[in-house]
Amino acid sequence: MKTATVPLCQHWMDNTTRCASPAMRLTQYCYSHHRERSRQRRKIAERTRQRWLESAPLKDAASVQRALMQVITRLLSGNIGHKQAGQILDKLQTASLNLNSAGRGPRKKERKKNERRKADDESS
Ligand SMILES: [Zn+2]
Repeated sequence: MKTATVPLCQHWMDNTTRCASPAMRLTQYCYSHHRERSRQRRKIAERTRQRWLESAPLKDAASVQRALMQVITRLLSGNIGHKQAGQILDKLQTASLNLNSAGRGPRKKERKKNERRKADDESS
């Protein structure tokens, strides 16, 4: 009589022992280890997502502009939600205001031009 071979979970419990549970169909892991690995992957992806903004110090107007572009790109690609984008944009606005008061924002001439443009947009 021939017995069917069931693939076993490939997860290592320690350096010498493998999980002996049967692997789920089309995966290398049993249900619990497959779930555990998915959870870890999501955690790592989330950490990576959070790190992208921290990696760019907001030291001048150009870096704030770059961060703004990244937020827009991530919002449009669905990597971040509207709520999270709103929170980040709020902080970018604070950073921009702080840079302006520290004299590292856009030059006064550019700022006046931006204010004029904003006033034109609001009046139309
Ligand atoms: Zn397992």
